[in-house]
Amino acid sequence: MRPYIVAGNWKMNLDARSGQSLASEIRATLEQTHPGGLVRVLLCPPFPLLPSVAEALTGSDIGLGGQNLYPADNGAFTGEVSAPMLAAAGCSHVILGHSERRGYFGETDAFINKKVRHALAHKLLPIICMGETLEQREQDKARQTVETQFRGVLKDIDGDSVGNLILAYEPVWAIGTGKTATPKQAQEMHGFIRTLLSSTYGDSVAQSVVLQYGGSVNADNAADLFAQEDVDGGLIGGASLRTQDFLSIVTAAAEAAKRT
Ligand code: PEP
Repeated sequence: MRPYIVAGNWKMNLDARSGQSLASEIRATLEQTHPGGLVRVLLCPPFPLLPSVAEALTGSDIGLGGQNLYPADNGAFTGEVSAPMLAAAGCSHVILGHSERRGYFGETDAFINKKVRHALAHKLLPIICMGETLEQREQDKARQTVETQFRGVLKDIDGDSVGNLILAYEPVWAIGTGKTATPKQAQEMHGFIRTLLSSTYGDSVAQSVVLQYGGSVNADNAADLFAQEDVDGGLIGGASLRTQDFLSIVTAAAEAAKRT
């Protein structure tokens, strides 16, 4: 059975002190409400906050993730961070291929594929984002876009590794906009991604991959999204910065997990 995984992407927000307080508050609230939880929760703060957030999470079930990496162990790559550095800071996961990185920093599927392979080589589990723009959806190219991204970012990665990945379907038009995909739209794309996984890697790999939905998930819409057969949790931006909203989203995932 696949786990439900809810990850908070803090993006470029907070500082060491406020990040540590938020992580402590989330930890305390989750431990009270979901002791021994049914849902795996991850927090992905900006790099400079990793040590203080790691300290707040020590001994808890909440995992830590980076928001990006550069695919080399070390060297003259000013401003970049490597997988060994993230791992040493306590990260188990890393978000790769986020649409903000693709859009603002020109990241291509080929470059994201290098990052995925680098992360896996260092035992960091990637959360790989993919999703179409509004224009692509309106031109009926949503599936084609996601399939191209899927094949590009996973090129030459074997089925055993793919089975451990998290893929996040994040329609670009839904990120930070307050517009969410309907549960039907989310399920349609998640079902399609599951089919791609199955035809490429076989059914057992396809069934083990966690497919998160991301894009304006909030306390009100999370339950309907997570009730969909192929939606195994969420990648949460804005709402992950508010403890009560994040808690409601984790609770919605826990309820969905109880029903499976
Ligand atoms: C994200 O950044 O991955 C995201 C889904 O953001 P938001 O929830 O704010 O739309």
